[in-house]
Amino acid sequence: MKDIIQKDNQYFFNVFGKRIAQLTHGGNCNLYDENGKKYTDFLAGIAVNCLGYSDEGFKTAVKNQVDSLIHVSNYFYNEPQTLLAEELCTKTGFSKVFFSNSGAEANECAIKIAKKYAFEKGIINGEFITLKNSFHGRTVATLFATGQNKFHVPYNPSPYPFNYIDANDLAQLNTITKDTYGVIIEVIQGEGGVIPLNMEYVKNLREICTKYDVPLIIDEVQTGMGRTGKFLAQEHYGIKGDIATLAKGLGNGIPIGACLAYSKFADVFKQGDHGSTFGGNLLACRAGLYVTQHIEPLFSHITTVGEYFREKLKCISKKIIDVRGLGLMIGAQLCEDVSAHDVFKTLFEKGFIIGTSGFNTLRFVPPYIITKKEIDEVIHVLGEVLN
Ligand SMILES: *Cc1c(COP(=O)(O)O)cnc(C)c1O
Repeated sequence: MKDIIQKDNQYFFNVFGKRIAQLTHGGNCNLYDENGKKYTDFLAGIAVNCLGYSDEGFKTAVKNQVDSLIHVSNYFYNEPQTLLAEELCTKTGFSKVFFSNSGAEANECAIKIAKKYAFEKGIINGEFITLKNSFHGRTVATLFATGQNKFHVPYNPSPYPFNYIDANDLAQLNTITKDTYGVIIEVIQGEGGVIPLNMEYVKNLREICTKYDVPLIIDEVQTGMGRTGKFLAQEHYGIKGDIATLAKGLGNGIPIGACLAYSKFADVFKQGDHGSTFGGNLLACRAGLYVTQHIEPLFSHITTVGEYFREKLKCISKKIIDVRGLGLMIGAQLCEDVSAHDVFKTLFEKGFIIGTSGFNTLRFVPPYIITKKEIDEVIHVLGEVLN
């Protein structure tokens, strides 16, 4: 382990700061470090490992794909890719899908579609509109789509004009005009601190985008794939985006992203307009297909235990000043005299992996199979730590 720490410092770009332990294996909702110490996992690789660590069907599907063929170029038909595209369209109502390797890339695809759609209407001096405190990825375009200035400074100028408006402020929706290239939102801001948008705001935004024929892009990289108890979180709002993006939970740990769109938008891409070497490869799509076919029976569990978890969080300590989220995407904001990062570290020592996000907020995004018993355990320990 000492050797790994030394080599990691020497050879790896230090963008993630000091790492914690080395996790070597998992089972159900538990992870184990190299000393065999057990941790209950409420982070799931940042909302990725939605089926937990013991799903034999998933492991078999992936192993079988490895044994037959991992990758072919996108010049060839690809059964898991086609079937996954069909499955995603059937479950969400969108018309077409393009696959990528990550959330940021799925958003890049959405941004390019919107830009070309505007271009074909003759709009060339427009702008994108996104929300302050959002997060859309780390590629150059998605970094600037992200409405947090701290990320932008060394990388200016932005490839496109992005105008950042305040979430939930109806008055600022008048920024949207017929010249807007597209509007990008998360219906629950994840990295921003698990902050849901208001119902009225989302409905108004949808109407205005329709009125001006501006594509509404909903980034469901974190909220999608059942995380909130519905396939897409936008279903809670009773609206549909024109384009939606998925990634994190889609492959249960195998890297894959997807951009979903109605034909009106998807069809602006003609042969040669977009592409990806790895995007939608056999292995990734086999994993995605398995996940997509197996999460729906978990939705009612996600809803019930998520509600249970939030109710418990509201009662354990006065140090928790706000509890937010839907399904198993939960944020608990702490008062200013306790640091979320310190709580995260203490819980880790006590055998629980949680996350932090936004302003002093604890984030819980466990595998969908998390039990009430495991929730009771983290609640008990968190109560002790906070009080
Ligand atoms: C994580 C995340 C992304 C970026 O996904 P990557 O796979 O890291 O590129 C984009 N949007 C949202 C909402 C996310 O939570």
